[in-house]
Amino acid sequence: MHCPFCNAIDTKVIDSRLVAAGEQVRRRRQCLLCHERFTTFERAELVMPRVIKRDAQREPFNEEKLRRGMRRALEKRPVSSDEVELAIGQITSRLRASGEPEVPGKVIGALVMEALKGLDKVAYIRFASVYRSFTDVREFGEEIARLQD
Ligand SMILES: [Zn+2]
Repeated sequence: MHCPFCNAIDTKVIDSRLVAAGEQVRRRRQCLLCHERFTTFERAELVMPRVIKRDAQREPFNEEKLRRGMRRALEKRPVSSDEVELAIGQITSRLRASGEPEVPGKVIGALVMEALKGLDKVAYIRFASVYRSFTDVREFGEEIARLQD
């Protein structure tokens, strides 16, 4: 990279070490022209995958939308904000760690359902009924019966 002091193109690495529990590389560099030293940090770029919607359109992953959906399902339920945030954190880490550039919205929906199932059964049913739009009453009843097992 360019020297931040004189903008020269050639700089050399004089020291390199892992920092932040191995998640970053700190490099000490020296400009070959003006001999000034500076530090750079390098880390893996982990971006959220884009979401493939039902109509095949792509949209950026929106954590706020995820939060709204979960909060709506959890309205007036005995689940703390901390628990919700923890679940959101787990869902986003899983998506990020997948390394996929794009992920179908239904995969995110399934992760949310899984999280809600562990947090609160009523919230799970609320979310699943909207999300899966159960086609008939029997299907909905079957899902509730499965939960009672
Ligand atoms: Zn320089």
